[in-house]
Amino acid sequence: MLRRYLCPDEYLEGFRFVTPDFLLSRNIRALLLDIDNTLAPYELPEPTEEILAWFQSLWDAGIKTAFVSNNHKQRVSRFNEKIGIAAFPRAKKPLRCGTKRAIAALGVPKEECAIMGDQIFTDVWAGRRIGIRTILVPPIRDRRDIFTAGKRLLERPILKYYIKKKEEVSDD
Ligand SMILES: [Mg+2]
Repeated sequence: MLRRYLCPDEYLEGFRFVTPDFLLSRNIRALLLDIDNTLAPYELPEPTEEILAWFQSLWDAGIKTAFVSNNHKQRVSRFNEKIGIAAFPRAKKPLRCGTKRAIAALGVPKEECAIMGDQIFTDVWAGRRIGIRTILVPPIRDRRDIFTAGKRLLERPILKYYIKKKEEVSDD
């Protein structure tokens, strides 16, 4: 069933809720990261202090990180300047290529990897196709075009499915 296939493993309110404790308790030791609308809005060229501190907390806990972005090299390089992690721009998510290269670069078994992003049809799908865990966050600031609106509309039944599934688990 498509809804089940594309349903993220976790859906959190934002990247700041993805803490080292949260990740390590799920045996996630490497995190592949989308940038746009996951960590920062499109128009923010550089990471904020909060983002930098968040990265530091992950690294302090021994969690590896890499960027896997569909955006172009310039955007990703500029954002990554102060962070300095492995970065894979033009990753073509939901295709496997970029995500696969990122996992290989981090040298972590797939079972200990997760991908985090704001889009079901790119980030979650890419993670599913490669068989790693998926963390969805709501978009920080959506573009107001018809394409984005349509995409979000298509995501809705999958999110509903996620909420239903979580409720069932907590009822048990
Ligand atoms: Mg994004």
